[in-house]
Amino acid sequence: MWTEQEGGTFIRALDFAAEKHRHQRRKGNAQLPYINHPIRVVEILWRVGEVRDMPTLVAALLHDTLEDTATTADELESLFGAEVLTLVQEVSDDKSLPKATRKQLQIAHAPHLSRKAQLIKLADKIANVYDVSHDSPEGWSHERLLAYLDWAEAVVAGLRGVNAALEAHFDAVLEDARKILLG
Ligand code: ZN
Repeated sequence: MWTEQEGGTFIRALDFAAEKHRHQRRKGNAQLPYINHPIRVVEILWRVGEVRDMPTLVAALLHDTLEDTATTADELESLFGAEVLTLVQEVSDDKSLPKATRKQLQIAHAPHLSRKAQLIKLADKIANVYDVSHDSPEGWSHERLLAYLDWAEAVVAGLRGVNAALEAHFDAVLEDARKILLG
């Protein structure tokens, strides 16, 4: 069971992420509030992966704040501690690099991430592959959607061995996504 302090930290992280992402929407046609995405990632970790480690769950809620909002490393460290900051940094792209390089680096870095960061990355890819097939980003061609699936599969190849249930879920979601997109 969580301690009262852990419950408080989780709720603070949820509130913090909602505030930071408040003006952002997901890329899909449904234009969902961005916060739906980190909530989905933490839900997948909890339900499918049976992850109960608090820094992992808190970092999952915060996983896109450094990369996609004005959040600073100092802010995350002072509010949530060094371990959570490190996990969020591990799953964040370096936005100073070109997009194609960032995508290649995700594949190259995946096997070298900490186990906790690998869990977050895997749940993130499950959520994104589901979204790409069920609520496709506006303006993406069929080829781009299929290329996204191939890339996500390549990233996840470097995460194998971290959590069998999450990996099996990824495989099922990916297979389903290809069926949907290939008709
Ligand atoms: Zn994400």
